[in-house]
Amino acid sequence: MPHALIVHAHPEANSFCTAQMHEAAHALQAQGYTVEVSDLYAMHWEAELNRHDFTQDIEGHFKPPLAQQQAAEAHTFAPDIAAELEKLERADLLVFSFPMWWFSVPALLKGWVDRVFVRGVAYGGSVGTFVEGGLRGKRGLLLFTTGSLEEHFGPGARDGELDVLLFHIQHGMLWFCGVQVLAPVVSFAPVRGTPEDRQRQLGVVRDAFTTLDSRPIIFG
Ligand SMILES: Cc1cc2nc3c(=O)[nH]c(=O)nc-3n(C[C@H](O)[C@H](O)[C@H](O)COP(=O)(O)OP(=O)(O)OC[C@H]3O[C@@H](n4cnc5c(N)ncnc54)[C@H](O)[C@@H]3O)c2cc1C
Repeated sequence: MPHALIVHAHPEANSFCTAQMHEAAHALQAQGYTVEVSDLYAMHWEAELNRHDFTQDIEGHFKPPLAQQQAAEAHTFAPDIAAELEKLERADLLVFSFPMWWFSVPALLKGWVDRVFVRGVAYGGSVGTFVEGGLRGKRGLLLFTTGSLEEHFGPGARDGELDVLLFHIQHGMLWFCGVQVLAPVVSFAPVRGTPEDRQRQLGVVRDAFTTLDSRPIIFG
């Protein structure tokens, strides 16, 4: 049975972003996926990568990649990271669910990537990158809302091209670690739509997560 991990970063349980995350989860479950959600705000996820990420003492000059590599070999990650690594290992599909903030992901989600896509497991050391990345064999995609309208994105448009804005996430985080990246599912400006528009958009999200096998591949 395929397994999905949705990493969700929105501070409001009644947001549209959270509603579409649940819609995606239900669509996956309806196809036989088991689904796990890391709801980062609800979990009070710690975004700061630091010495507390490791159960071993780190004295002197702290070198995060080296410390991660050693912890990967000795299994000495702090319990919150170890738990996310287990979830990640179980997942065939990885979904980042978030509102676009400053043309990127919320800091909490970036902090999840900093602390969980660790050297020695997700990339680097005895593990490679891209086709040889530690997360190879998994598929992933972004599910997000924006404040800007769809027409604000594109060549020459006000906010620029979406695939350029998303490059650091889709290529720099997911594909870098070997995750095959599917086309993102975007709900543009839900705040500006009518309730009917939003209901329709939830249908678009449901359809997208029901037809992942035919979704275009962006990287991988
Ligand atoms: C720090 C920061 C930086 C930002 N940077 C950017 C940026 O770079 N680019 C950009 O485009 N935007 C940006 N934004 C805007 C942000 O992306 C939007 O505010 C966000 O994506 C809107 O989605 P939401 O789910 O939070 O909306 P909400 O306000 O939570 O939801 C919209 C509406 O949907 C309703 N709703 C909730 N559930 C349902 C449901 N089940 N069915 C129907 N309706 C429902 C809600 O009641 C609400 O009326 C930024 C915002 C912040 C705070």
